[in-house]
Amino acid sequence: MNASLMIHGGAGAIRSPERFFESLRSVVRSGDDLLASGASAIEAVAHCVTLLEDDTLYNAGRGAALNADGVACCDASIMDGRTLGAGAVAGVRGVRNPVALARIVMEETRHVLLVGEGAERFGRARGVRFENESYFVTEERREQLARAKERHATTLDHMQAEHGKLGTVGAVARDRDGNLAAATSTGGLINQMSGRVGDSPIIGAGCFADNAGCAVSCTGVGEDFLRTALARTASFFVESQEMDAARAAEAAVAYLVRRVQGSGGLIVVDRNGVCAAAHSTPGMLMASACDGKITVSAGRQREKAAGPSTGGRCDGY
Ligand code: ASP
Repeated sequence: MNASLMIHGGAGAIRSPERFFESLRSVVRSGDDLLASGASAIEAVAHCVTLLEDDTLYNAGRGAALNADGVACCDASIMDGRTLGAGAVAGVRGVRNPVALARIVMEETRHVLLVGEGAERFGRARGVRFENESYFVTEERREQLARAKERHATTLDHMQAEHGKLGTVGAVARDRDGNLAAATSTGGLINQMSGRVGDSPIIGAGCFADNAGCAVSCTGVGEDFLRTALARTASFFVESQEMDAARAAEAAVAYLVRRVQGSGGLIVVDRNGVCAAAHSTPGMLMASACDGKITVSAGRQREKAAGPSTGGRCDGY
């Protein structure tokens, strides 16, 4: 069985998307090599999201968006489609790789979601790597927050993309044994209220994987994805309506737009290894590795967000 992998770097109005392409290509290639060497889907998604968290280009880990207090507060989640095992952390500070901590929550506790100080304490006890505040906060992020405050705005990272940078990150994979996994990581919205948590660490909203359906990672205005349980909804479309990844991604975004005029997108890999993406935002950064072919895209790149727009299948967008 061939392995499949897809990653994303956030949705929004993405100016000069080419500057992300090299990084996206290198991350997806590295994850694909891992899957080719026999690694599990869980290992592959954790690996890719860790690399994306370490890159200041994205709104996750280092370079995460700042909240209204000027703090990088991170959320992450991971899910194993074979067992429905899941782990997540929300509102953590100083954790270098939130997705690694989410994975430890999944593998070493009976819980799914740990938040704030308790999650950090657990991470320290497990030897997770921590960094000083200065590691996370970049100059561009400070400027971005100042602009958002001037406009009294709380925005998606890519809505301010004229000044460079960023986007929530995620990965979905099917390994050679046919097992699915998904992971998502974010700093949230720019200038979000202190204490606000979006969809990214919520299983079924920003992240979901079930071998019976598909693996999904979402990006966009978290409240829209929370209210529509969008990741679980996409998996339901595959499992119960016999849609493939491409149709399920489109149907999920159509539902997001119809019900809550939602803004964002998702990547999907289904149980047959088909990768696809769809988004209601003008663009979405993504890359996939399927059947030895690597593809990088910024989605459909429309002038204005409208209805759903298919980012395409891994075999030809
Ligand atoms: N979904 C994330 C949140 O609402 C933001 C993003 O995808 O950029 O926290």
